[in-house]
Amino acid sequence: MFRGFLIATALFAVFFLSTCTTINGGITEFDKDDPEYQSVAGMIQDPEFRQGNLPVRTLRVAVIANEWVGDDFVLATFRDASESFERQVGIRFEVTLFKGPKWETRSFAYIHGALREFRVEHPEYDLVFGVSLAYDNDERPCLFGSCYVGMIDDGRNIALLTLSPQIILHETGHAFLGIWHSPYGVMKPIPEGEYFSVANRRRILRNKWDDFRY
Ligand SMILES: [Zn+2]
Repeated sequence: MFRGFLIATALFAVFFLSTCTTINGGITEFDKDDPEYQSVAGMIQDPEFRQGNLPVRTLRVAVIANEWVGDDFVLATFRDASESFERQVGIRFEVTLFKGPKWETRSFAYIHGALREFRVEHPEYDLVFGVSLAYDNDERPCLFGSCYVGMIDDGRNIALLTLSPQIILHETGHAFLGIWHSPYGVMKPIPEGEYFSVANRRRILRNKWDDFRY
């Protein structure tokens, strides 16, 4: 528990400093009561909200996972993320799972390079995920006290070093939102829950039909 807290603190510090305060300078002065920061969690049953999610977009998603990781685990986790994303913004995943690459590294640079090569052979996918898990899914790779669990490259190639619907939603959020983080919810540097904010959702809907296959 204590170790988890330390890791969380390190993650927060790194992301907050490297992304939020430098890229989005105003984010530290957010107003907690601003309706823009409100979670969409309480709105998803609202008929008008649901109408706003239509038509549904299906993203073609390739997932390349370690040979030893169970297909059921990977597919169920992406299915949970897809269902949550569809409820919030009307975008679902159609996942094709690839196994077998020898992810003997947990280096983001290496995985992102492999994903770029994968795209040459498979240009039809919108988003491509490289999932390189340690034998313990809770293990977090740390360097100089900073821990990273997911990173997007080129706005569409996503490396994950741990697997959960939350981290999938966060990184997929970056594909539509750019590098921005939010002070609350799933787009917080250390994600909280699975829900986007009202402002996040509006921006995702605006970019909903972006073509990632360029
Ligand atoms: Zn992020």
